Amino acid sequence: MTFAIHGLAVSRGVAIGRAVLVASSRVDVAHYFIEASEVSAEIHRVRVGRDLVVDEIHRLQETITHMGPKEAPHELSALLDVHLMLLQDGELIDGVKHWITDRMYNGEWALTTQLEVIARQFDEMEDEYLRERKADMEQIVERVLRAMKGVGPSIVAHHQQQRASRKPAQQDLLLDDTVDVPLILIAHDLSPADMLQFKQSVFAGFITDVGGKTSHTAIVARSMDIPAVVGARTASQLVRQDDWVIIDGDAGVVIVDPSSIILAEYGFKQRQGELERGRLQRLLHTPAVTMDGEKVHLLANIEMPEDAPGALMAGALGVGLFRSEFLFMGRQGRLPDEEEQYQAYKRAVEGMQGLPVTIRTVDVGADKPLDDSLRDDAHLNPALGLRAIRWSLADPAMFLTQLRAILRAAAHGQVHLLVPMLAHAREIRQTLAHIDHARAALDNKGVAYGPVKLGAMIEIPAAALSLPLFLKHFDFLSIGTNDLIQYTLAIDRADESVAHLYDPLHPAVLRLVADTIAAGRAVGKEVAVCGEMAGDVGLTRLLLGLGLRTFSMHPAQILAVKQEVLRSDTTKLAPWAQRVLLAEDPTRELASA
Ligand code: PEP
Ligand code: MG
Repeated sequence: MTFAIHGLAVSRGVAIGRAVLVASSRVDVAHYFIEASEVSAEIHRVRVGRDLVVDEIHRLQETITHMGPKEAPHELSALLDVHLMLLQDGELIDGVKHWITDRMYNGEWALTTQLEVIARQFDEMEDEYLRERKADMEQIVERVLRAMKGVGPSIVAHHQQQRASRKPAQQDLLLDDTVDVPLILIAHDLSPADMLQFKQSVFAGFITDVGGKTSHTAIVARSMDIPAVVGARTASQLVRQDDWVIIDGDAGVVIVDPSSIILAEYGFKQRQGELERGRLQRLLHTPAVTMDGEKVHLLANIEMPEDAPGALMAGALGVGLFRSEFLFMGRQGRLPDEEEQYQAYKRAVEGMQGLPVTIRTVDVGADKPLDDSLRDDAHLNPALGLRAIRWSLADPAMFLTQLRAILRAAAHGQVHLLVPMLAHAREIRQTLAHIDHARAALDNKGVAYGPVKLGAMIEIPAAALSLPLFLKHFDFLSIGTNDLIQYTLAIDRADESVAHLYDPLHPAVLRLVADTIAAGRAVGKEVAVCGEMAGDVGLTRLLLGLGLRTFSMHPAQILAVKQEVLRSDTTKLAPWAQRVLLAEDPTRELASA
């Protein structure tokens, strides 16, 4: 039966495919497709993993038969019997074979997929004893996964790319339900680090139950440029493994088990979207200049050095925000050393072929834990806690390491160094002192480094209200509207339950943005916007009218924003933008323009 789930629109476009439900705790399992010729070897790999666990349990059973009832209670031996029985479970074994043979999933992926199917059946059981066997099933699958780590080939990246690039035509979709059907990832939650894993992956779209529009998970999804919906609340419970789903990333709607009429309708919409993107490509080499001759800088936000070539291909004239924290995530607490960071920043700089790269010092904390296991549940308000520059200043050795690496990368091209979350004069002084210190350390060692322009993010209202202080110490400012909105309106950007109050057009937000742009212009210093507002085509004209000339956004948005720029006349937009700024309801004023 067809039904729809409403969430928050995160990343535009339409995706149609089969649901792949992934439990958040198992997201780090490798997901890749195997080749037809590898099917039997893959089934064998899982079997070997399972046999290893069976042997392990037999050995345990042997040991406990020699123990007394005190050291080895009867329950333990009963539990081992249950585990042995579950390891032989026909549904588990047949299901895993099905996912490997018919869908060509790798063994780990097949195991966790079948576990989701079985876990759901357990959840629906009336009998409490049987319901509780779900935990046992989860445990044995975890054990097999662990055993498989030592068995045969692990993740094979080229499989991912090869298969991910094979997208069937829409008409094939309806007829040919084979391994080439696009897959839609559905999870309760995905951390930004998880999302990063999926960057090169096989999925054509994704849906999460939780998350706000500007949560970092959503931001990474947007940078992947695949349709996505977050805040879909119960999606991971309502959708079943392998259901057909449509994601309407523009409307934030998920349609489950669509009828053929609905499928045809969305297939049409999908093709329209592709045509529109094709049309925008014609603007790739057109300079972003308004009708009245104002030059506008359209820059890219990136997460990894490997994103640089994509940014160039999308028409970016530089990187306005390299979120360096993604280099620090998912590494079980082992942070990248100076050399590793230097190489990464250098790759980004060289990747941009002489265009400027703005490297932001690490911004972890809040909804960007270094590792999922380090998720900050201990503090009640992590967004107000030790994140970004506060974290860096609390660990000077780590901060100095990063600063030295950035300064060294500046020897290879234009680098701008951007500091997040500053609010206090004291923090500014400390940051500048650390930069001097990093330069001195490199001088002492005779290591080459280059000049950098220094920038501060304006993303705390206190900073937006202390602009002379910032303009005195920095060469440029970059407005982080995602956080500026969060902190001005006291709305947790990652919390879907207050997402309706997250309003870029609130008069207070607009006032802070407008004042920051005006203050920078008054002293001839560059002001950029690098929050999600910069890539929102509905706001391009307003920001231009407020005097903004530097926009940094996801590469996929650049051409659409450029189209708006080309159609704009800032001499007309400026007085109108002032009216919007003073309006009681700017949203209505914007709509009436
Ligand atoms: C912002 O806050 O707007 C910003 C660009 O930084 P981040 O989204 O990484 O916090
Ligand atoms: Mg921010």
